Amino acid sequence: MIRPLIAGNWKMNKVPSEAATWLGELKEKLKQIDSSHVDILLCVPATHLTSMVAAQGFLALGGQDLSQHESGAYTGEVSAAMLKDVGASYAIVGHSERREYHKENDGLLNAKVQKALEHNLIPILCVGESETQRDAGKAKEVVIAQLHAGLSGVSFESSSDLVIAYEPIWAIGTGKTATADDAQEMCAAIRGVLKELYLAQAEGIRILYGGSMKPSNAAELLSKADINGGLIGGASLKTDDLLALVEAAK
Ligand code: PEP
Repeated sequence: MIRPLIAGNWKMNKVPSEAATWLGELKEKLKQIDSSHVDILLCVPATHLTSMVAAQGFLALGGQDLSQHESGAYTGEVSAAMLKDVGASYAIVGHSERREYHKENDGLLNAKVQKALEHNLIPILCVGESETQRDAGKAKEVVIAQLHAGLSGVSFESSSDLVIAYEPIWAIGTGKTATADDAQEMCAAIRGVLKELYLAQAEGIRILYGGSMKPSNAAELLSKADINGGLIGGASLKTDDLLALVEAAK
């Protein structure tokens, strides 16, 4: 049984000074439920990490991206070492918003996965098809190709060192969600690729579903065998919604 991971992705929301109050509220509310069965992670803008590090006891922190470079003249970039130094333990790699708006391709994302692992940051590699690709019957082909490219030459010690997030692009921030059966089918295919690449280690790798996960649909999605948690955008901004997702991960 894989311990579920409820991972919030704040995207470019809230300012750092709001985060402390928000965390205080979450901490109080968490005391009222049993969250011992689940890991909670918040992937926040890099500017927020320092002010949120005090929360490390009850949740983990992650970046939303990282540079493929070690250090140097890369204006505006944030390195794996910087994220690690301020207390992050995860980094999202290849979110569809990065792939689309910043033209990040599979080769670059592969370098980012490797860089994260070099610095003991757990990469959350995002994969997912567009609506057109799904309608054309190409969803699995696309996702499997993204996985092979993103994980090319990647190795790690423990199955908890890597997380994959299946995020159908048409479901992100749209209110549309994949049916639990469709999401499970794709996550099972992802597990199949992980087994080819990592043999027995694949059984312990967390596969998250992302795409309009919310309190009303989380329990069904999270009950599926190959869905080991969620990557959650909108619903991770409200403490009550996040709490409901933690409870749904039982
Ligand atoms: C995301 O940002 O990865 C995401 C899944 O967003 P939302 O939950 O808002 O669809």
